[in-house]
Amino acid sequence: MALRGRRLSKRRFLGQLGALAGVAVANSAASHAASAEGSSAPSDGLWDVIVVGAGTAGLPLATFAARRGARVLLIEAAPRTGGTLLLSSGQMAAAGTKLQKSLGIVDSPQDHYDDVMRISRGTARPDILRLAVDNAAAAADWLVDSGFKPREGHPVLSGGHEPYTKRRYFWGEHGGISVLEVLEREIQPEIARGAVTLLLETEVKSLIQDGAHGAVRGVVATGTDGKPVRYLGRSVVLTCGGYVSNGEMFAKYEGVRDYGDTVYAYSRGAGITMGLAAGGYVRGQECHQPLFNGVLASEAIPAPFLLHLTTDPKFRPAWEIWVNVHGERFVREDTDSFDEREKALARQPDERCWFVFDQAILDASPPLSREWTKDEIVEGFGIYPTFYKADSVDGLARATGIDAAGLQATITAYNGYQANGKDGLLDRQHMPLPISRGPYYAIRMQGYYLLDAAGLAVDDRLRVITEKGKPIPNLYAAGELLGMAAFQGQSYCGGMSVMPAIAFGRLLGNSILPLRA
Ligand SMILES: Cc1cc2nc3c(=O)[nH]c(=O)nc-3n(C[C@H](O)[C@H](O)[C@H](O)COP(=O)(O)OP(=O)(O)OC[C@H]3O[C@@H](n4cnc5c(N)ncnc54)[C@H](O)[C@@H]3O)c2cc1C
Repeated sequence: MALRGRRLSKRRFLGQLGALAGVAVANSAASHAASAEGSSAPSDGLWDVIVVGAGTAGLPLATFAARRGARVLLIEAAPRTGGTLLLSSGQMAAAGTKLQKSLGIVDSPQDHYDDVMRISRGTARPDILRLAVDNAAAAADWLVDSGFKPREGHPVLSGGHEPYTKRRYFWGEHGGISVLEVLEREIQPEIARGAVTLLLETEVKSLIQDGAHGAVRGVVATGTDGKPVRYLGRSVVLTCGGYVSNGEMFAKYEGVRDYGDTVYAYSRGAGITMGLAAGGYVRGQECHQPLFNGVLASEAIPAPFLLHLTTDPKFRPAWEIWVNVHGERFVREDTDSFDEREKALARQPDERCWFVFDQAILDASPPLSREWTKDEIVEGFGIYPTFYKADSVDGLARATGIDAAGLQATITAYNGYQANGKDGLLDRQHMPLPISRGPYYAIRMQGYYLLDAAGLAVDDRLRVITEKGKPIPNLYAAGELLGMAAFQGQSYCGGMSVMPAIAFGRLLGNSILPLRA
């Protein structure tokens, strides 16, 4: 047990350290500005724009609005800016960028749109997707012109999701931190000259509104002293992220339990709660989709993330069988489609499965994860409750909770297919060894989520709308709060959350202001 704790906290610690190193300088200036204004930030004045959440969408929004001459109040619940970028891989997709042109890649927002619609089988929202792809290149160019360095060889076609048809997918050396460094560098001059007032550790609790569905006039927020303060504004933009850290809201909208602790702790759905109270509505629930490759560290709920298994046959074709709690195989283990694996997992009880193998496979196959060595994986069987080992198939079934008869029948059938060289069930091609001699092993893979499916409904000017399509005056929303369904429908399309968040932040900053004459 002690080793488990040590190893896990070391991994997490390293992750945190990377994040902190990336933003320390930027944030000290931001914090200074916030504390210089501090609680004396005028609550009785009229702000041009109140931005709720200083993350991926909120930072560029505040920056661009301030550059247009607005007085911006940027309110952040956490002690630091950055939001999900502190954890995110920061992968982005944009078509028609200067980067692509410099490499001779011919691409267009229309091609990007078509690709997302192809991958998502038409389930993305046409109006929001169109706005996202149309504004992505300008946002990407701005990032790169402002010092963002794409990795060597980028853009690429794919990385962990269904491939695009054009090379438009790129990210920086340090994932989300590479993006955040730029966003924070860009906003600092605006904070320094007082165009943006940043309040950290201040949580927006509700909106101030003229009656039901009436114009939004500002927000009520509480700082560390717990006292509610009213801030009035000519427009309010909700950029306070998704709801995956809110277990109750997740279960309500996604229809399943979230077993993993995988996202930013402040992604608690505050924007959904406030948007609904203002008269808005939520859409996209039907696009719920788990990711396929995650192992959690324990059976606690929610449990910390432990490692990614390699499920892409390009890097490691499966040697194991993948079975559900009934002991059934449910997807061809060597399919090269991410989407097929993810959709198949969504149909299994608790969106989980077990990778089952024996000693001969463990000895002969490459490590099941690119993050751990073979020795670390072997060691894992004595440490993690989601790693199982037993002398018999029955024993393995008992340890995992898989139906024993189902598991035995599946292994017997698989061994027959393996011997004949033909998978009569799923047409799997790669079957190098049978599963025939103990000890037997299983690793439990759990579906997990990095962003939410459902989101607040907005129109094509990002105004929050009622179910009848009527905009709620002065209220806007951007970022993950709009839901994965809006940008990528029911299939993960690479880079289609970070890039739209930045693009919409920039777009709103440049456009919403009812600036004073
Ligand atoms: C591990 C991980 C990897 C990912 N990788 C990718 C990727 O490679 N590519 C991709 O496209 N997407 C990825 N995503 C998703 C993507 O990073 C997020 O969807 C996106 O960054 C969200 O941006 P946002 O501005 O909507 O929210 P955030 O960046 O989370 O910002 C919201 C901010 O609002 C603040 N806030 C919340 N409530 C309140 C309140 N009541 N009052 C004031 N402030 C509040 C939060 O503290 C936060 O700072 C990943 C997500 C995770 C967790």
